[in-house]
Amino acid sequence: MASSLTSFSDEARIALDTIAGRATGLFSPSLRLGVTGLSRAGKTVFISAFVHNLIHGGRLPLFQAQKSGRIARSFLEHQPDDAVPRFQYEDHIGALVDERVWPDSTRAISELRLTIEYETASAWGRMFSAGKLSVDIVDYPGEWLLDLPLLGKSYDDFSREALELALLPVRADLSQQWRELSAAVDPKAPADEMTARRLAESFAAYLKACKEDERALSTLPPGRFLMPGDLEGSPALTFAPLSAPAEGRARPGSLHAMMERRYEAYKTHVVKPFFREHVARLDRQIVLIDALQALNAGPGAMADLERAVTEILACFRPGRGNILTDIFSRRIDRILIAATKADHLHHESHDRLQAIVRRLADRAIARASFTGADVDVVAMAAVRATREGTVKQGRETLPVIIGTPLAGERIGDELFDGNMETAIFPGDLPQKADVVFKDFSAAPEGSLAEPAIRFVRFRPPKLERTAEGVSLSLPHIRLDRALQFLIGDRLA
Ligand code: GDP
Repeated sequence: MASSLTSFSDEARIALDTIAGRATGLFSPSLRLGVTGLSRAGKTVFISAFVHNLIHGGRLPLFQAQKSGRIARSFLEHQPDDAVPRFQYEDHIGALVDERVWPDSTRAISELRLTIEYETASAWGRMFSAGKLSVDIVDYPGEWLLDLPLLGKSYDDFSREALELALLPVRADLSQQWRELSAAVDPKAPADEMTARRLAESFAAYLKACKEDERALSTLPPGRFLMPGDLEGSPALTFAPLSAPAEGRARPGSLHAMMERRYEAYKTHVVKPFFREHVARLDRQIVLIDALQALNAGPGAMADLERAVTEILACFRPGRGNILTDIFSRRIDRILIAATKADHLHHESHDRLQAIVRRLADRAIARASFTGADVDVVAMAAVRATREGTVKQGRETLPVIIGTPLAGERIGDELFDGNMETAIFPGDLPQKADVVFKDFSAAPEGSLAEPAIRFVRFRPPKLERTAEGVSLSLPHIRLDRALQFLIGDRLA
């Protein structure tokens, strides 16, 4: 990555923005919390559960301010940024609680302001603090974040790397069609819109296939090819990697020159403004990962996820020699890497999942040479869709999880209708975290002894009601631990 991500004028704007942000922050303390993760990692569910548990005084024993009864009230307020869509909290909670269906996932950036009125823990603090904190939750696709390294890459760098990745064994068959199409065009030939479109569509189809295939690969840029937001169908997305012309530079007017120009336009008009207007203003960040899905898919997918987390961390690394991101901009001081959906495992495996995420994060931190923020990990379920139980099988007693599989889910021959509860033995995660990162690709097929987790999607839970008929907040696993790390110190 190049040493400077932004040009001088961009940096000046970031500085002005953040100084203005700080000045207003003096009057009403606020914290900008970024929530990201690749699509379907659980961002929408996390934010909905976060807000619901605070507004409804959920059971959060590891969240100190709540546990000690110092939170007077939490409520939603108008967000400070008029140009950003609001996170549709009410719709999402309606789906989860009333209809018991999962809400619509994140497709673009959105924001929500949650204000917490609290009593400071110390008498000294009570004299000075207003006892009010506004948390601006900013939800955005992780795919967009993975674009940031592009700012330091030329079109030829980008093309070369895209091709290298496409040739990896886990991706080669999915990328074959695009690679063949690409190999058949002459980068020096005159630029032609139809060729550009065919290449862009084929490249986008390959990226989508990586994500959808049961291999559960993470992704590679450009992020808007997967999550276009409001750029759907725009010419800014009509480019694809091309191999560099064999000798010399491609002439103006050639296909290569056109693709290069569009790639640069994508960086200038899409990637940079997103970084400047949103990422550079964050104080804290949670990165959600679907580690279970990657675990199930095998070491190739785990390596891919690790690469994605490495690139995401690199985005939050204070820019070396970059005056304004070093000095003026608010710097992210805490990052939480959270594996969601731990309710698919029995609690005996929760610590194992957390240990696996710890390993993954440590490796990513080392690879990204990341410093400058506290990074913690958690295995959690923002919404807990299952209960635990045991089932006797012969002389053995097996720990099981019990939930209502979504309509259309299957276990063996059994097809679920969305109403029937069932108990499943989800399987154990390996005791040693290292095992899941080992590449067994050289070993003969089927010799990978680690059992996969039996993974069924469940419906959101039925909320319990108190004797007075008041429904309780959404159940979770370790959401309180996540909250404590992300905002706890600001409510001390
Ligand atoms: P996003 O794309 O990151 O916004 O992902 P969502 O928040 O929409 O989550 C995608 C899907 O993952 C949901 O539709 C659920 O099926 C599942 N999911 C997310 N969080 C949880 C969780 O805490 N528990 C369970 N059981 N499923 C979850």
